[in-house]
Amino acid sequence: ERSERLSTGTAEIEITSLSKVFGAGASGFRALSDIDLTIRQGEFFTLLGPSGCGKTTLLRVIAGFEQPTEGSLRINGKEVAGEGPNSRPVNTVFQNYALFPHMSVAQNIGFGLKMLGRARSEIDATVAEMLKLVQMEAMAERKPAEISGGQQQRVALARALAPRPRVLLLDEPLSALDLKLRKGMQTELKRLQGETGITFVFVTHDQEEALTMSDRIAVMSAGRILQTGSPHQIYHTPRERFVADFIGDTNFLQVEVAGVDGDGAQVKLPGGAVHRARLPQGMRPDTGARVTVVIRPEQAQLVAPGQGALAAQVEKSVFFGTDTHVHLRLPGDAPFILRRQNTGALAEPDPGSTVGLALAEGA
Ligand code: ATP
Repeated sequence: ERSERLSTGTAEIEITSLSKVFGAGASGFRALSDIDLTIRQGEFFTLLGPSGCGKTTLLRVIAGFEQPTEGSLRINGKEVAGEGPNSRPVNTVFQNYALFPHMSVAQNIGFGLKMLGRARSEIDATVAEMLKLVQMEAMAERKPAEISGGQQQRVALARALAPRPRVLLLDEPLSALDLKLRKGMQTELKRLQGETGITFVFVTHDQEEALTMSDRIAVMSAGRILQTGSPHQIYHTPRERFVADFIGDTNFLQVEVAGVDGDGAQVKLPGGAVHRARLPQGMRPDTGARVTVVIRPEQAQLVAPGQGALAAQVEKSVFFGTDTHVHLRLPGDAPFILRRQNTGALAEPDPGSTVGLALAEGA
């Protein structure tokens, strides 16, 4: 797997029982609760969650701009909780990446190195290397006002990478860019991370961005980490309803466990058919337990009435161009959304008609 190849498996950041409370006494606000997290060397690691869940606070604690109220934070094996930002091998790219307007692109990139008192020759060599890395060599002498938003973002990245931090923290760095530029910069960021081998900790509330870019993702809600795993694990085997719901469209089915085998469980669907569902890592429900299974809209297919694992009634179909969403009702009135790719001229099922649903194996 990609994450195995890129990261050495050595811990870069180890966070244990960490919490952060803003303010004191009864008016104190617990922004982070009991965070346990290990980020590996060379990993592209993403903190994902809705607005206000504590992503930025966790990033600022790692950077040293905020101190944890409790717990331990080790970077490259060294305890840094309680220490300021300058003692950490970490650099940050913020959402508002304000470049110095009176300095050229090259001067902006070299600024951090100058502050560190590096020799002129070393600064020049590093700036040249960084300009090449972010493909801005031709614009080295321009001022920030004379380049585009996407180019400014690349300069901000080069500036943060120039001192060669072990860890780069990125707080929604692409959110100011329009959709097309954003897609381009996602690819660019991935490439930069691969070429430099630096550990990236990336904050976003955009689930698609998290799925496409990350080696691993931590999903956060209300100051807690709900689940950590690869994009595949987070998407296909969410441990909690919140995680499933936050990552894409989904259907929830209440079922009874008929038996467990390896990484899967046989579950009894409404209507009685048995289906094999994949289990989240480390989860082993008892036979007879009532559990919720997650079925993604693309994991079900329409089949003839009486066939497939479930019977359903068609409510309506919504055409999206590349695909069509079919809204259905299961026995017991549970809603179910199915997504069909429009690869051919598929007839849309009649509203009110009864259909069968076949489920992908291991859905
Ligand atoms: P967003 O995606 O909107 O940036 P976030 O997940 O990054 O959200 P944080 O900025 O980490 O969220 O904030 C988490 C919670 O902590 C919020 O409820 C916020 O109001 C609160 N908070 C953040 N900083 C402070 C502070 N200095 N004092 C008091 N409360 C704070």
